[in-house]
Amino acid sequence: MPTLPHYRIYAIKYAERIGRRSEVFLGGDPHDLPMAMDYFIWAVVDPAGERAWAVDTGFSAADAAKRQRIHLRSAAEGLALIGLDAAALHDVVITHLHYDHAGGFADFPAARFHLQDDEMAFATGRCMTEPAIAHAFEADHVAAMVHRVFERRVAFHDGDGALAPGLTLHRVGGHTKGLQIVRVHTAKGWMVLASDAAHYYENLTDRRPFWIIYNVEEYLAALDTALALASEPEMVIPGHDPLVFERFPPAADDLSGIVHRLA
Ligand SMILES: [Zn+2]
Repeated sequence: MPTLPHYRIYAIKYAERIGRRSEVFLGGDPHDLPMAMDYFIWAVVDPAGERAWAVDTGFSAADAAKRQRIHLRSAAEGLALIGLDAAALHDVVITHLHYDHAGGFADFPAARFHLQDDEMAFATGRCMTEPAIAHAFEADHVAAMVHRVFERRVAFHDGDGALAPGLTLHRVGGHTKGLQIVRVHTAKGWMVLASDAAHYYENLTDRRPFWIIYNVEEYLAALDTALALASEPEMVIPGHDPLVFERFPPAADDLSGIVHRLA
């Protein structure tokens, strides 16, 4: 059996905000302290550096202004910092269609977008008539993805899907109906890009869901799935935790706090 590639993985920070702990956990938190939230996209690069995948696309400066987030760089600008040309990428994983993951689609004119069937049905169906669910989506982002469908630029997955040997997608739901996570074979073992299956390490370790949620039972099962797919619990990477940059080194001396290498 051929050995699997050891992919490199980068976390690229593109925005930030200061929230409060009480806003982070379902049911609030007795310690109402400020809590930073970082916004990332991720890049997976094959060992030869010949093929790369982006995971999520961030949001635009206009989205940031509308929602009062601090926008630092576009997905394309972030990828350029590690020598990747967003316009040339062939495959982009959309973990889910929330505004902070699906808003940078225009940076990837040549890409196919990998999306779960459930997520598209969720984002275009009756749940979006409910502001309590729809508030984290932008209709323009969802409509853009519908256009990509008609351009045959969406690769739909239903459950588990494969992008390449040692690089797979797994629908977990919970946070949104069709949230998918990404399992990557690395030199250190199996790493899982959990996206918003866990915004913070605390969501994972304390089994306390983030407050934006579609299904609590699925959310908790998603934590177990992420842990089961990773070689070690430390190999599960939360989607918005500033601690990620404390636990993993910068990709280069001048990229500290901007791009860190996870594997
Ligand atoms: Zn998010």
